[in-house]
Amino acid sequence: MSKVMSSSLGYPRIGENREWKKTLEEYWAGKVDEDSFLEQIENIRLDHVKKQLDQGVDLIPLGDFSLYDHVLDTAAMFGIVPDRFHYKGGKVSLDTYFEMARGAKGAAASEMTKWFNTNYHYIVPELGESVPQLVENRPLFYYKEAKEKLGIKGKPVIVGPFTFVKLSKGYYEVDYQSIVNDFVPLYAGILRELQEEGVEWVQIDEPILCASITKQEIDRFTEIYGRLKKAAPDVKIILQTYFDHLEHYKEVTAIPVDGIGMDFIYDRGENMAALKQNGFPKDKILAAGVVDGRNIWRTNLVEAHSFLSELTDYVPKDRLIIQPSSSLLHVPVTVRNEETLDKTLRNGISFADEKLQEVVLLTRALGEGIWRVQSDVDECLKSISDLHTSPNRNKPSVQDKLKGLNPLDVGRKSPFSIRMVAQSKLPLLPTTTIGSFPQTREVRRQRKKWRNGELDEGEYQRFIRAEIKRWIDIQEEIGLDVFVHGEFERTDMVEFFGEKLEGFHFTTFGWVQSYGSRCVKPPIIYGDVNFKEPMTVKETVYAQSLTDKPVKGMVTGPITILNWSFVRNDIPRYIVANQIALSLRKEIESLEDEGIWMIQVDEPALREGLPLKKERWEEYLQAAVFSFKLATSSVQNETQIHTHMCYSDFEDIIEAIRNLDADVLSIETSRSHGELINVFQENRYDKGIGLGVYDIHSPFIPDREEIISHIRRSLQVLDPKQFWINPDCGLKTRGIPETISSLKVMVEAAKHVRKELLVKRES
Ligand code: GLN
Ligand code: ZN
Repeated sequence: MSKVMSSSLGYPRIGENREWKKTLEEYWAGKVDEDSFLEQIENIRLDHVKKQLDQGVDLIPLGDFSLYDHVLDTAAMFGIVPDRFHYKGGKVSLDTYFEMARGAKGAAASEMTKWFNTNYHYIVPELGESVPQLVENRPLFYYKEAKEKLGIKGKPVIVGPFTFVKLSKGYYEVDYQSIVNDFVPLYAGILRELQEEGVEWVQIDEPILCASITKQEIDRFTEIYGRLKKAAPDVKIILQTYFDHLEHYKEVTAIPVDGIGMDFIYDRGENMAALKQNGFPKDKILAAGVVDGRNIWRTNLVEAHSFLSELTDYVPKDRLIIQPSSSLLHVPVTVRNEETLDKTLRNGISFADEKLQEVVLLTRALGEGIWRVQSDVDECLKSISDLHTSPNRNKPSVQDKLKGLNPLDVGRKSPFSIRMVAQSKLPLLPTTTIGSFPQTREVRRQRKKWRNGELDEGEYQRFIRAEIKRWIDIQEEIGLDVFVHGEFERTDMVEFFGEKLEGFHFTTFGWVQSYGSRCVKPPIIYGDVNFKEPMTVKETVYAQSLTDKPVKGMVTGPITILNWSFVRNDIPRYIVANQIALSLRKEIESLEDEGIWMIQVDEPALREGLPLKKERWEEYLQAAVFSFKLATSSVQNETQIHTHMCYSDFEDIIEAIRNLDADVLSIETSRSHGELINVFQENRYDKGIGLGVYDIHSPFIPDREEIISHIRRSLQVLDPKQFWINPDCGLKTRGIPETISSLKVMVEAAKHVRKELLVKRES
């Protein structure tokens, strides 16, 4: 290698116009046959390769593209298919592949969970039932495809064995290390075939090296990568890490591979510090991630360039690869089409295509010792400075409010024991829902018309009110104890608030993949966040006016709004969270002023924001708890604060959840009930709690007896006086008839157990 090289670690799958999503959904709907589907997909895949090539990137990733998810691809490549899908061995068929992702009749889909601390969900591989074997060499396929069709020698990307096994289910029953061992011959087989094909570079992703792992585990890495290297000595392996700094720098950089990929954006300076202290091995390549792969702010080319120059004091130029800090899967495709976005903001951001351009400019400048086009740099600096000084970004009044904040402001007036008495106006085992009711096609159609100006404000409001009224009547008929207004006015729980708060902006095409074909368009938190006017009061108060039952207000929490947005990077995240919290505090006070005495503050994204490294959890959780309390603690004792989380897996954050000091917590349980009950056996929880009694992800009506036994088991570890009955999550994605029937079953089951308890009490 004679010059500095540029590289890409992965490119968004969805396409500039979400053509990937559309193609997939047409296929699922049976509108195209398998052959033409595969042909369309191939075009999209090759088009993405070409785009990166045209940008001038040297090392093009192959096999990062997927029909659903790259972890699922890896499982399929190893024939890891749970028995319930009746897999017979050999290459996993397209049908089976999609069944694993989306479920089939009589076979639940595999679980999904977040890819490290991003908003991308992967399909959790289920080890244990199948004996892993190499049923298809996917990297080889993609390599050959790009070579034949485009004449390029790309860089296959593979999820590494340690990361793959750590992200799977089922390994903990056996020995993790020995399972990794089972995969070694399979990875060796892949590499050997790649070598035969003449592959020069391979990227093996092991982000787990940035999590909290032990030195002993690194010893295993060293040993296993030694074996892999030996299997294919001519293939250059780049061991790629991202999202944080290397846990054991010295040991990791000594692993016998050809290059180490490091994230210099999310390492908080630690990778560079370790490099300065220990140097970098003379025989290795450093793949340096210097362009932010998961946030959207434009790279300051001058700063990045001087950082790289500093690196060359330790690593010679011809052993440097310049690249984004991670795959670009986490950012939208291009800023090009954002014609209506505020100009200052538009010039201050870069999405995948623009990020690759930054990588290429930096690579050339470093290699040639001079910027080819000085005006590129001048324009970049000007745009960044315009953004920093924009009056839309800086609101002194907001900053003052935060500075004047007294830490004593964040705490309820009285402890829970007193609040509980003030709030006790409900029957035993109160029944409720999590907030949203089905968003029918009609609801979405009316909102679209209103957004396009085809429906005026008054008409739209009347429509929303009619929906609210309909569902208040339905809730009466079902016999629930605590009502909700149904969230018909919201498309998305974060977008809704973002649109009403100061400091947020929305792109037109800024989609990113969330899971499968589902894409989200995260808001951009661009300036200081401020409350403008009540956001949820009108609908909630209207709903309350229709019934004597309490209506629970519905607000998205500060941490969820933060974690599901692209957040400005010029001030610390916790400050942004506190700005959001102060705005929500006003909202909650406004609801309370209007007589709403139950308010739910949803925090489904609290857990996923946990840093990769355990030692940083405490700091994150403390800040999160502070923001939540800042938002919720100014209310009277009589006002009941609820919170909701869509996962049950919170054994390790239970202390923080307790510290939120919410009066009632509702969490997802139905799919992991046994495990959760154990958590409560060991950890006392003494406030109100609703363990979701049925799974809302399934269209099937739950069974009454099952719900009853679910409740009874919960009551073995929780006091009936604290127990609530609710579904696992919001009902937005369900149909109307099944929602009504399911809730009726839930209410009947609750009544049944309630009666049992009362009889027991009397006798
Ligand atoms: N209140 C929201 C709803 O019911 C909560 C959604 C969530 O937790 N993701 O839709
Ligand atoms: Zn939920």
